[in-house]
Amino acid sequence: MNAYLNQPVTALKGIGEETAAILSEINIFTIKDLLEYFPYRYEDYRLRDLAEVQHDEKVTVEGKVHSEPSLAYYGRKKSKLTIRVLVGRYLIKVVFFNQPYLKNKIAINETITVTGKWDAHRQIITANELQLGANIKTADFEPVYSLRGSLTTKGMRKFIRLAFQQYGSYIEETLPDHFLQKYRLLNRKDALRALHFPSSQEDVKQSRRRFVYEEFLVFQLKMQGLRKFEREHSPGVSQNYDLQKLKEFLNQLPFPLTSAQKRVVNEMIKDLKSPYRMNRLLQGDVGSGKTVVAAIGLYASVTAGFQGALMVPTEILAEQHAESLRQLLEPFDVRCELLTSSIKGKRRKEILHELAEGNVDILIGTHALIQDEVAFKRLGLVITDEQHRFGVEQRRVLREKGESPDVLFMTATPIPRTLAITVFGEMDVSVLDEMPAGRKSIETYWAKPEMLERVLGMVEKELRKGHQAYVICPLIEESDKLDVQNAIDVYAALSQFFQNRYKVGLMHGRLAAEEKDAVMKQFSSNDVQVLVSTTVVEVGVNVPNATIMVIYDAERFGLSQLHQLRGRVGRGSDQSYCILLANPKSETGQERMRIMTETNDGFVLSEKDLELRGPGDFFGKKQSGIPEFKIADMVHDYRALETARNDAAMLLESSAFWSSPEYEHLRTYLEDSGVLEGEKLD
Ligand code: ADP
Ligand code: MG
Repeated sequence: MNAYLNQPVTALKGIGEETAAILSEINIFTIKDLLEYFPYRYEDYRLRDLAEVQHDEKVTVEGKVHSEPSLAYYGRKKSKLTIRVLVGRYLIKVVFFNQPYLKNKIAINETITVTGKWDAHRQIITANELQLGANIKTADFEPVYSLRGSLTTKGMRKFIRLAFQQYGSYIEETLPDHFLQKYRLLNRKDALRALHFPSSQEDVKQSRRRFVYEEFLVFQLKMQGLRKFEREHSPGVSQNYDLQKLKEFLNQLPFPLTSAQKRVVNEMIKDLKSPYRMNRLLQGDVGSGKTVVAAIGLYASVTAGFQGALMVPTEILAEQHAESLRQLLEPFDVRCELLTSSIKGKRRKEILHELAEGNVDILIGTHALIQDEVAFKRLGLVITDEQHRFGVEQRRVLREKGESPDVLFMTATPIPRTLAITVFGEMDVSVLDEMPAGRKSIETYWAKPEMLERVLGMVEKELRKGHQAYVICPLIEESDKLDVQNAIDVYAALSQFFQNRYKVGLMHGRLAAEEKDAVMKQFSSNDVQVLVSTTVVEVGVNVPNATIMVIYDAERFGLSQLHQLRGRVGRGSDQSYCILLANPKSETGQERMRIMTETNDGFVLSEKDLELRGPGDFFGKKQSGIPEFKIADMVHDYRALETARNDAAMLLESSAFWSSPEYEHLRTYLEDSGVLEGEKLD
């Protein structure tokens, strides 16, 4: 790398140890870091018509001094200078605090230009910058940097200017020339200059365009490089499944597979057979039939002489899956066992022992499955359902449990394309984009809370037909801050309402596992007709007789989550309904409700969700592993992301990439990320 640019910032005149220490807090250590410290916004010095400026907005105006400036002192050393200025047709006040010396510079009838915050109600600009005469700022834009400690915007601009003057000529291109030409991108030096010292909005735009592409390309190279490396250097096991047995299994299913299921099964078993380690993401909307796909995969692995594991986020779900897998697979002599934290003592020991002996074929459970004490004899395939609920770390531990098991991640939250190629960019992706035939779409309505009685009337109508209902509430306890209906209150109210007619059950996260289990069983067997629940029923639960769901405070949920919840109904052959009780105040809240009533397509919803909430919120908490980009925005710049992804794929496949000097810079990113660790390039 470039020795000049890698010098510490103290190499610059004007930056001493003290400043260097503060700069290090914002990760600026070298000249290069300084040059690449991107502004987060630009200050706009263009003159504007005050009529168009919002209250509290920063503005620059030019006007004529209308009367003698008046200076008032207050407190010790504090002063306020007030000037009446005629700006176009406005006579406004401009005030400067604590700069009394300005009084003598400003003369009546002269033109001045001031920059400051506009108080639209009182028609006052609280100014912090004065130019005598007309606006002479040459740049339309001045960069604004995020700062720390005693750093100032002016100081930052100065440091960067210095860095540019002394070392600008050492800035090296990182992208190959033919990409710059193909996409008409600024070279790196010009782009950095335009970023820090733009003379027009266009400069900023062009500079940004270049760095967005660069950032995505580097990211994709690392991601795909890692995938390629894993493929080539972590030999998995080749699982020679028994095709005849698989066919027999398929033939006895109560339904034919959809063509999407067939396609996905083929992709999966091909991976099983190949010597590479499978690392595949299966996306399929709620109800698209992922469970049977998982069962086929696990069975294939068992027929090849391996064990399989299915990991799910909750115990309830684990129990349900264990139940379905047993039904499907036990007739084929496959031993399925459930292992959750509530299975203890002797029973637990026994399962663990049998597992280690290889007598248990398939283990189903929550993340308890990755605890140290759990040892398989010959783990061949790991499937996780709703995997984004598992941390990256858990995924890694799990993958390392067996020798090198194939891994399939299933998710019912359709992942927007942009996230699929960033967060999961190192995976192969399969999509179940077809619903089993005969599925009716769920009718969704949005009702205001005051319509509750009518809504309950609809619920009752379904109950009278012998069907069941879910009622979902966001939180289990009242919180002062969030004025939310809580499950316990709703449970009490509905028990009262349906008294002597229907039985109401309550389910929430604070119940002990056995209690949850009991409630769920009562609901499954229709001993309870109305289940009031928090979002613990969100994933996977399957009670086909439930045909109506009411969601309280629906505006508190994201679109993807609402869609997940809604997927609990519409699982049988009867028409199902979902009613969103919500009174969203915000525009986007209202839009979310509207979208829910308009589409049942999980992919459409997840794209919308991402757009409305941004990537950070998409999976809920931070643990999702969504990369943070310095300048790029994966939602708005998704086209650049796709271009970069394709280019990265092309580069990694071309032999020139690994040898030609043109790509030297890009290759260093792979070295940094460990992809080339232990590899020598010649
Ligand atoms: P999800 O993808 O949400 O996990 P499930 O695997 O729970 O969906 O399947 C939902 C329902 O659809 C189940 O009752 C399942 O038996 C049924 N099902 C799955 N595949 C088919 C199919 N090809 N034809 C008809 N029904 C199917
Ligand atoms: Mg499922």
